[in-house]
Amino acid sequence: MQQYDVIIVGGGIAGLSAARNLSLNGFDVLVLEAKDRLGGRIHSIHFAGATVDLGASWIHGIEENPITRLAMKHDVETKRSQMCGSSPNNIIKRDIFDKDFKRLNREQKLEIANLMADFLDFLSSTTKKTNMHLCSIESLKNDFIEKRVLKSNSIKQLEYIVDTLILYEYATEADDLSAESYHADHDFAGHDRLFPKGYAQIVYLLAEGVKIELNQKVQQIDYSGDMVQVMTKDRQYTSNYVLVTAPLGVLKRGDISFDPYLPVEKREALQVLKMGVLDKIYLAFDHVFWDENAQSIACLSNDHQIAREMINLYPLTQKPILVAFTAGEMAKEYEALTDEALIEKIIEPLKNMYGKVPKPVDVYITRWSKDNTSYGSYSYLPVGVNVEQREVLADAIDNKVFFAGEATSRYFPSTVHGAFLSGVRASYDILQTDLLTEDIRKRTASLENIYL
Ligand SMILES: Cc1cc2nc3c(=O)[nH]c(=O)nc-3n(C[C@H](O)[C@H](O)[C@H](O)COP(=O)(O)OP(=O)(O)OC[C@H]3O[C@@H](n4cnc5c(N)ncnc54)[C@H](O)[C@@H]3O)c2cc1C
Repeated sequence: MQQYDVIIVGGGIAGLSAARNLSLNGFDVLVLEAKDRLGGRIHSIHFAGATVDLGASWIHGIEENPITRLAMKHDVETKRSQMCGSSPNNIIKRDIFDKDFKRLNREQKLEIANLMADFLDFLSSTTKKTNMHLCSIESLKNDFIEKRVLKSNSIKQLEYIVDTLILYEYATEADDLSAESYHADHDFAGHDRLFPKGYAQIVYLLAEGVKIELNQKVQQIDYSGDMVQVMTKDRQYTSNYVLVTAPLGVLKRGDISFDPYLPVEKREALQVLKMGVLDKIYLAFDHVFWDENAQSIACLSNDHQIAREMINLYPLTQKPILVAFTAGEMAKEYEALTDEALIEKIIEPLKNMYGKVPKPVDVYITRWSKDNTSYGSYSYLPVGVNVEQREVLADAIDNKVFFAGEATSRYFPSTVHGAFLSGVRASYDILQTDLLTEDIRKRTASLENIYL
């Protein structure tokens, strides 16, 4: 039986960045991927004459971001986006409707932008508090309301702001999210960018020259002997090291069994870290009936959470396509609905905003919490959980079993660049383990630190 230097479980961005790095250093590497495609939570498809992303879409903050550099190095086209993100400047570019579906004017949007800037300043000023992980973002929001003595209209605006900044970014509700997440996550500076021809282009270029077997769902990893045995339904593989990049959701469910059983610290990290849910609902129409220049369409009505934020893809694709988001508990609830029922929940508020709305000519709906290779969209720190748990998740076991993936990223979780860097970090750890003495290893810095 062939023996590999490293078997990598998962052909997402973390697995592939590690595979490429190790292969370039002369290691014999094999990637085992459960699905019939690469990319995991990066998944670009053709839809209504355009390319759209069902998972990651944005490079968040281009400056110093390794994904920007990778795209530039390989001439992969990207386009500036002001559709989402935490900049108050973006608010002005949205077509926003109030709770009674009346369109906000520029002054009213500026009011929201200013409130957002104030709230962001307030969140930043809370950095120095100790035990931030015991406090929720919701409680900070309530402190802000109290401090600013906000009235009902401003509270409604703030609720929309918190949804924009928290619910759709962290894929969970503000009362569930630890305030520490806000400070623990590091952002790259600069604007966001999108891939008009899909994020998967980055996946394919990393996969070039890497040995990969698709449709191989790993079920068991036995690291009790000198060599590691990796088992799928009908095959067994042997290697010196294994790098597990399967998402947190998969590890939490115990879909991969480890022998010996995972150590207590690892089990605890798996238990306390959580997977959030963000779903996308793509709708294609036969013409643009909304403001074709608006970056997005938003609605302050609490009754229409599903239409709270819709991105206008016309500027990017020149096609009449909108994408609506659902997140957190509501996303899980809505995943149980039929496509028709779900679409109805978007069309109704759209009618209230724009009058007559044509029937969509095509739709595509994601259901990430039901995907049995991720069980959610990305990880988050719930209230009470310290960011160090991510490092525990990343820790290697017995210098044989290594871990990467967005959830293991201390500074850049829930992102493509975080997953990419975690793969580079893990490959570096394997290189160090294989090539360096323990003493030298102890003196070598963690790779993520160089980005700070
Ligand atoms: C809807 C959505 C929107 C997002 N938007 C953005 C965004 O705009 N910008 C951004 O930076 N990030 C975004 N993200 C997050 C980003 O996509 C992820 O952080 C990143 O892609 C995770 O990469 P990964 O390699 O850690 O995991 P994955 O991409 O999930 O890769 C893990 C791989 O392991 C495979 N696998 C699972 N179980 C097994 C098994 N038992 N055996 C073998 N293989 C297995 C999976 O099929 C998968 O291919 C978004 C994610 C989602 C879902």
